[in-house]
Amino acid sequence: MSVRVRIAPSPTGNLHIGTARTAVFNWLFAQHNGGQFILRIEDTDTERSRPEYTQNILEGLSWLGLNWDEGPIFQSKRLDIYAQAVQTLLDKGLAYRCYATEAELEEMRAMQKARGEAPRYDNRHRNLTSEQQAAFAAEGRSAVIRFKIEDGRQIIWNDMVRSEMSWRGSDLGGDMVIARASVNGIGQPLYNFAVVVDDMDMKITHVIRGEDHIANTAKQILLYEAFGSPIPEFAHTPLILNIEGRKLSKRDGVTSIFDFKQMGFVAEALVNYMTLLGWSPPDSTQEIFSLKEAAELFSFERVNKAGAKFDWAKLDWLNSQYLHNMPVAQLTDLLIPYWQSAGYEFDPVGDRTWLEQLVSLIGASLTRLTDAVEMSRLFFTKSLEYSEEAAIQLQQAGATVFQGILAVLDNVQLTEASIQDVIKQVIKEQNVKKGLVMRSLRAALMGDMHGPDLIQSWLILHQRDLDKPRLQQAIAHNSSPANANKST
Ligand code: GLU
Repeated sequence: MSVRVRIAPSPTGNLHIGTARTAVFNWLFAQHNGGQFILRIEDTDTERSRPEYTQNILEGLSWLGLNWDEGPIFQSKRLDIYAQAVQTLLDKGLAYRCYATEAELEEMRAMQKARGEAPRYDNRHRNLTSEQQAAFAAEGRSAVIRFKIEDGRQIIWNDMVRSEMSWRGSDLGGDMVIARASVNGIGQPLYNFAVVVDDMDMKITHVIRGEDHIANTAKQILLYEAFGSPIPEFAHTPLILNIEGRKLSKRDGVTSIFDFKQMGFVAEALVNYMTLLGWSPPDSTQEIFSLKEAAELFSFERVNKAGAKFDWAKLDWLNSQYLHNMPVAQLTDLLIPYWQSAGYEFDPVGDRTWLEQLVSLIGASLTRLTDAVEMSRLFFTKSLEYSEEAAIQLQQAGATVFQGILAVLDNVQLTEASIQDVIKQVIKEQNVKKGLVMRSLRAALMGDMHGPDLIQSWLILHQRDLDKPRLQQAIAHNSSPANANKST
């Protein structure tokens, strides 16, 4: 039997990290077993489902590299199939019309509460005669369809993550609604019902989803039995928790997968991190792998029951590893949009060589793509502010050093090959130590005493004609009375 799994997001919001991680585990399991990964969009909730969320989900899965073999299959296009399936259960006597009004149900729940009981449907319309049904219908009442759940039933399955799971029928809240209210016919199907019909039709062999669906699984198993269909295997994956151990939510600053993209994470790092959210490879020291590599090693035996804590530091570390090992051209492509949205002026095509030089310079210092904005500001913008240390260094250097450098530059063509000669010439002509020249250049050109390689930075600035104005700015800074006073 070939493995068939699915991810079944509801398009009531953007692709969430929890859904994406469930998709990762499904994808890994399918790949590991040479099976199929199917995408189904559960859009029967017409009020909350939006096409833009579907779009976001499809784009998010694609961005992460979670390609699907079949789909997307839309539940909204299968309503006739669900209605037929409801009819099948009605015909079998396993489902029935319930005419109870909302007010009656509320009263029932209030009485249960008064008796200290948990709220549940009391199966009051399970055995109506056809005359009673007709009388309710004649009153103009609409009916939901309920599926019979026997209180005495014990539902047991062997979960691939959580081992033996057991539920009592009496804990499932009474006969369950499988189709919404309708006056004569069969209303829209509810989640638990449509899922089972789809999973049967799509021949899903393994249902892999978040542990928040455990109670649904108990109900769904009863539905499979009612249809006389084979029951798939189930794997309930641990929730993703924030650092305080609560379910990761909007308050943690991330909801959609694209929030991570916005924050400067690359898809490969994020998806790599997601594989580790609840799973560990047999060699637990191995942390960096592609989806394909993870798929080779993946099994549910190594998926934890306990919630998976979301560790930003680890994600940052993984992201930095991917950025540091990325070919310069690829990293440049990724950084261009960030520089553009920072408002830096450049021609992505005409300045390509220069941009790649800049990327070679700063790439190894990046943790997130967004870091490149601040790190490269001084290479794009004319104005330069001095850090306190740099300002001190400028004063120590004095204007003459910078005048000397400018004079040499007037007579030499600054290139990768000549730059060392230029420095030597300045040292000689100015009769100053190399350290002073280098520190002063760093202060004047970069405005800070820390940062990337000075020589490379100078060459990059030079190509944009930013070096001479910076040296002039350093001279002006030193001759300003305000700054001169500061040094005394
Ligand atoms: N639409 C459900 C969700 O988004 C799918 C659950 C399932 O996988 O059965 O949670």
